[in-house]
Amino acid sequence: MARAATLVSWSFVALAVSLMLAVAAGDGVDPAVTIAVIALAGAVGVGSARTYHRIRTPYLVVMGVAGVYAAVRVALPSVTTGDARSMASGVTELVITVVLVVGMYLVLRARRGPFDVRDALDAATMFVGGLLVAWLLVVTPVVDSGQMGSAPSTVAAAYLPFSLTLLGLTAAVAMTGLAGNTSMRLIGAAVVVNTVADVIRGLQKAGAVGDMSEVTTMWTAGSFVLLAAAACHPSVPELFRPARHPDGPRQNLRLLIVLAAVLAPVIMVAATDSESPTDRAVRVAGLALLVVFGSVRLLQAIRASESARASLQDRLERDELTGLPNRVALLSQLDELLETTWRAEQRPMVLLVSIDRYKHIHDTYGQELAGIVVCDLAQRLSLAAQQFGASVTRPSVDEFVVVDPAVVSPAQAVIRAESMKEAFDQPVTVGDATVFVTASIGAVVAPRNRTVSSEEMLRRADIATDRAKEIGRNTVALFDDSMQSDLARRMALEGALHGAVERREMRLYHQAIVEIATGEISGFEALIRWRREDGTVVPPSDFIPIAEETGTINALGSWVMLEALSELRRWIDDGTVAPTTTMSVNVSPRQVADPHFPDIVNEALQRSGVPPELLWLEVTESMMLSEPEHARATLRKVRAMGVRIALDDFGTGYSSLSLLQRFPLQRIKIDRAFVHGVADTGNDQSLVRTIIAMGESLGLDIVAEGVETIHQLSVLRQLGCAKAQGYLISHPVPADAIRSTMVALRDLGALSIFTSDEATSSGWRG
Ligand code: C2E
Ligand code: MG
Ligand code: MG
Repeated sequence: MARAATLVSWSFVALAVSLMLAVAAGDGVDPAVTIAVIALAGAVGVGSARTYHRIRTPYLVVMGVAGVYAAVRVALPSVTTGDARSMASGVTELVITVVLVVGMYLVLRARRGPFDVRDALDAATMFVGGLLVAWLLVVTPVVDSGQMGSAPSTVAAAYLPFSLTLLGLTAAVAMTGLAGNTSMRLIGAAVVVNTVADVIRGLQKAGAVGDMSEVTTMWTAGSFVLLAAAACHPSVPELFRPARHPDGPRQNLRLLIVLAAVLAPVIMVAATDSESPTDRAVRVAGLALLVVFGSVRLLQAIRASESARASLQDRLERDELTGLPNRVALLSQLDELLETTWRAEQRPMVLLVSIDRYKHIHDTYGQELAGIVVCDLAQRLSLAAQQFGASVTRPSVDEFVVVDPAVVSPAQAVIRAESMKEAFDQPVTVGDATVFVTASIGAVVAPRNRTVSSEEMLRRADIATDRAKEIGRNTVALFDDSMQSDLARRMALEGALHGAVERREMRLYHQAIVEIATGEISGFEALIRWRREDGTVVPPSDFIPIAEETGTINALGSWVMLEALSELRRWIDDGTVAPTTTMSVNVSPRQVADPHFPDIVNEALQRSGVPPELLWLEVTESMMLSEPEHARATLRKVRAMGVRIALDDFGTGYSSLSLLQRFPLQRIKIDRAFVHGVADTGNDQSLVRTIIAMGESLGLDIVAEGVETIHQLSVLRQLGCAKAQGYLISHPVPADAIRSTMVALRDLGALSIFTSDEATSSGWRG
């Protein structure tokens, strides 16, 4: 179907070209042929236009008028005089051109939507330019030759402006992204041919060229056949669809055509002499109109680009979701404020309102509902901020910033922050869900009589917000200088942590784990220590979280693994420890998340030559929570190698029984917080009892951590706990102290605590 249409379309093009070439070569063409061709083109065109029914009516009109035109050209010579004939054909041509102008205007509207003043101005410019050319080219010579008042020449002069307007409109339509459309190209060709024919006709009326009516007739006929080709081509429906980019990239071509329409008459006016006052009046009026249109168009273009710039600026500075100003706007607003207020001795305040666990809300309710929640909160905050003349911005997804130009004191800042927090008191209702949202608010007041940059203010607010989150969220924290120094310390630590292993600042200490029943040493836990250049020792609780955050933990963890296993290998080889002694290595969640983790473990085992069953990996519950599936898969791989896995600090996290069952665990270590209170009958004791019972039912090995007194050890023994670790037995010791530690611990088994049921001996302490 489409291929047939394409074929017909191109046959029409061939027909049109041959028609036009035939007359151009000087061979006469029988007028009857012209009628036949237009009729054929009309019929087929109407037929295919049915397929694209939207263009059927306009197409029928054009082709109908074209048919009448052909009939007039062919039939009238025999019955009327020259003047009447050329009058009739002139009027038909005028009607056709006007119809085409209207049609093309409708196409432009279909492509570009409602009325656009630019189109009207361009059309008016083309029209007046055309009028002026017609006047200079056709009317003036006719008047000069004394034929003033001749109706045909007036008609001939009249269709020139219309065909130029048509040309301009066609260019405008083509510029709506249709430049590559075949149907559009054919229409373009038709319009150009039509315009050329009209110009020749005008020149002929003016006596500038001889009788070329046969040529112009055939060219006009050719342009109709090209129109038929355009209507047949399968690409025609595109013309009536709204353009994706109405202001296509090639607007300059359109402007060029308009410019030509201005330039041509201007040059003609300048190049020809004016003889009559009427002529002068027409020239002046025409040029004045062109100048007016041109200026308006220019003004309009300036205004359009101005408003485009403004709307772009607005879009750059506005948050799309809430309509609040965004980070860009916030920074410039804050800059300006800080710049002006410090001289006025005013102290601007910044509140950073961070929605607690926004990711959780987002993941639970989805993007759209989370967006509704944010919008609701934005509205409440704006309302609350209005009361004290502050403004609200949304610099990032889960944060709002409230800027108050002047507060009296830091205390007042806290009061205002608290009042902003009230915006979160009521839950947000979205659909049939009720969402409870809290916020952590960091408040900072600009220093007195001193400038501070907006980035600095926001950074301080950020530090205060972090503190509010640390305290436990849903609270307000006011920035003070100690927070800054904490942060500075942390930054320094972060920097020094880089390359600490290479500088040999890291050491491993080892703490014994003993069998409660026998006092035998079953293994050691490797605990890292950082001895800095200046001799200070940083405990792991200070730098492991930083290493986690910065990612240094992966390299550090690999080093710990290899170092711990190599040391164990050495002790076993030189007989310091029994060949069954195990080594426990702590592993952070981020290490488990690393896809290479099983390879790292494997490599450490290979290089140290320690059998995998001597290695225990101590993981924490937090590892199971963030990406449980991934962690489970990784631990399974490690487990498959023969390595065993212990759950450290058990009882402090959120782990449920089902979680415990899903992970490949062989041991749980009861956190020292519970061991601490195990000796006093009460909650802790029953809790430890429950943990032990549960562990046993799952077939897990149980280690109690942080055993500090004989009493604790004795209770643990009664409760059936298998192993213990703690200061009572041994502090963590450096590797070179292992031998002496072993000696000191050798007689442990003989102590009454490990042999009798009575917890009587309280004298043992190494
Ligand atoms: P953890 O794995 O639970 O280690 C036990 C912690 O309790 C150690 O603290 C140890 O010195 C301490 N401890 C042992 N017995 C007693 C006792 O009787 N009473 C008291 N109050 N404390 C006792 P440390 O060495 O400061 O390590 C703290 C945490 O740092 C460790 O907790 C572990 O989670 C982490 N950590 C240590 N070394 C590494 C490591 O190489 N890699 C990773 N990822 N984490 C490590
Ligand atoms: Mg541990
Ligand atoms: Mg622990």
